[in-house]
Parts: sequence; C-alpha cells; structure tokens
Amino acid sequence: MKSTLITVRPPSQEKGFERTSLRIEDFTAVEQKAQQAISGYLSSLPPELPSDPDLASIRRSYSRLLRSEPMSNEDYVLSGHELLECARLTEHELGRYLAYRYRYNVFPKLQRLDRFPPCLQLEPTSVCNFRCIMCYQADPSFSHVSQGYMGHMSLDLFKRIIDQAHGNIEAVTMASRGEPLLNKDLPAMLEYCRGKFLALKLNTNGSLLNEKNIHSLLSSDLQTLVFSIDSADKATYEAIRVNGRFEKVKANLELFVKIKSEHYPRSRLITRISGVRINQDQKSESMARTWGGIADSITFVNYTPWESSYTNPPNEVVAPCSDLWRSISVWWDGRANPCDLDYKSQLSKWNVNDLSISEIWTSKEYQDLRDADQARRRSSIEPCRRCVVT
Ligand code: SF4
Repeated sequence: MKSTLITVRPPSQEKGFERTSLRIEDFTAVEQKAQQAISGYLSSLPPELPSDPDLASIRRSYSRLLRSEPMSNEDYVLSGHELLECARLTEHELGRYLAYRYRYNVFPKLQRLDRFPPCLQLEPTSVCNFRCIMCYQADPSFSHVSQGYMGHMSLDLFKRIIDQAHGNIEAVTMASRGEPLLNKDLPAMLEYCRGKFLALKLNTNGSLLNEKNIHSLLSSDLQTLVFSIDSADKATYEAIRVNGRFEKVKANLELFVKIKSEHYPRSRLITRISGVRINQDQKSESMARTWGGIADSITFVNYTPWESSYTNPPNEVVAPCSDLWRSISVWWDGRANPCDLDYKSQLSKWNVNDLSISEIWTSKEYQDLRDADQARRRSSIEPCRRCVVT
C-alpha cells in the first residue's frame, strides 16, 4: 500500500533533476570558465573533421550555439552539473569527457551503441539501514533477508568489473539498491578507482558517516558525492526516510563539512543534497535554509514509483526508454540489469561472472529488449509496461 505522504503523480519523464535545483555556491564563474575551456579546446582541433566524429558533432553544436542557430536532435552542448565536472579536467581529459557526455545524451536519441555503456552503476551492497517509503527497500518481498536479494559485493568482483570499465567507461556511480557505506571494503573500492574515471559518483543517506569514512571519502578520487535528503523538517524527513534520524544525519553532515574545510581545503569534490519530490510540501527554499552551507547544491529528482515497480498499474507510455542506451547496473552478486527500477531483475539474463560487460551490452538479448522498446512493444514487457521512464 502506497504511503499517504506520496501525493505527487509521476508523469512520463526523463530521469533527472527538476528545475527547482538550487545552487548554494555561486558557480557562474566556474561554469563560464568551463564553457570557455570547451570552446577553446574545440577550436584548437584541426579544421578538418577530428578523428572522433562525435567531437566533430559537438564542435558543430557549439558553432551553432555561438551563431544562435536552432539545434537539431544530434546537437549537444554541456550545461549545469556537467560544467562543474568539466572545470576539474585537464585539456586531454576534456575531449574524453565531451565524448562521454555526447554518448550519454545523444546516443539514446540516435539509437547508437558502442562496445560499452556510457555509464556503469555499481552496487557495493543491496543492504540498507533505511526503509524510505519511495524506495525498493520499502518492498519487504525484496528487502527482507529471507528473500535472498541482500548481500555485499566482494572486493575481488568489484576490481574485476573496474578493470573492464577502466579506459572504456568514464562514469561510474557507486549506488543502487543499498547504502554503500555498509560495505566495509568501500575505502579499498574507492582507492581502486583512483585516476580511472572522469565522473565517479557515490550516493549515501549520510546516516553512517563518521570521522574515519569521511576522511576516506574526501581523500578519494570521487568527483561527486550525493547526500539523499528530502526535507528540511524533522517530522517529514523521518516519515519519508524511515529509520533515519534527522539530528543524527544533520550532525554527520556538519562533521563532514568541518573535516572538509579543516583537512581538505583544496578539495574539488562536488557535493549535492538530493531529495525525491514525493509531496508538494517539500520546498527547495526551506531545504536551502536548513541544509545551505553543507552542500554545493540542493536538487529534487523526479519521483518514480520505485517502491512498487511490479504492482504499479500498466500505463500508456510508448516513448522509448533512454536507460537501455545509457547504463548498466551491476548488483552485488554480479547480476547485470538495464535499470534499477527492475530491482528484482526480471529483465536480466546476464551476470558479469559469466560474461564481460561489453558482451552483455552488445548481446542479442539486450538488443532484442531495445528493439522491442523502440518498436513500441513496451506494453508487452514486464516491468517496463508499468514504468514511466522515457
Ligand atoms: S523498467 Fe523498462 S522502461 Fe523502465 S527504466 Fe527499466 S528498462 Fe527502462
């Protein structure tokens, strides 16, 4: 049964942030510098088409932007969070980053595929200490230990996956169905990723932060750290983030800020407080008043009914799903999935213990799924026929 706190109806939507994102730090100068660096980099490429056709396409997009010409489906210019990530990069890395973002944003529209997905989502654990009302963990047929879905990824498996991703994938997100800080090997996992990716991100509910793991996070090569918090109000927070204690999480984040400013004053880690808007009463402004000064930005992500992927009513959505072209999620036991909405892996036919990431991504079964989705046969696929992601 859905919580009465959830009053937002999920529209057919792309995944991502709502427009109500609030910047706490003023990054205008950083963004402008990043745009200049991109323009400078693109204009430094030889006038004939660069060997990478995607970079040539991005260069054309920037030319159109400068001439204020209309953009086509194939055009792409960076914005928002991407510019903050760009600001950290060397010129050499900039080319890689542009190619990665082009693949991430434009390939799904063009139905183009490489040997590897643009993004990899890795789950250090499926276990969580919270039972948030909009999360898969609220489904006891998933989260109860007797159901067999719970476990931690071994360091050995993690390393084998990272070895495949290194040099082939630029974005790795450490999150999915559980709370990453519950895996005792997380510091070693972060260390193993050092210097290998341009967009390494970790999501946490913040409840398990302590002095030791804060140092581990801040001394790592993470580019973005996301704290999952949805409310400025204790009662609402604790009603949404079941098992969470507002004061404890706030104190943990304040400790994080203190350690960051005292020990890592030059840290370029981007921090974000990200909430799921499930209720019209959640306001960005009050979030900023309470959480301002703790993270660089505060955003709300679109609510998708993750807590009931298999029981939501079938819908009329026929638009293709971008997740099928963007990322693979790998669970703690190696099972590979097209998305995390399918948290019980009904769509999955793959495990990275048997096949490489590239073999999975380019497999016939994966392509059959994309083809069915493109052919508007979404209504015949479980749980896609109940999903609003496009
Ligand atoms: S359930 Fe299907 S439509 Fe929804 S995100 Fe996953 S693959 Fe895409």
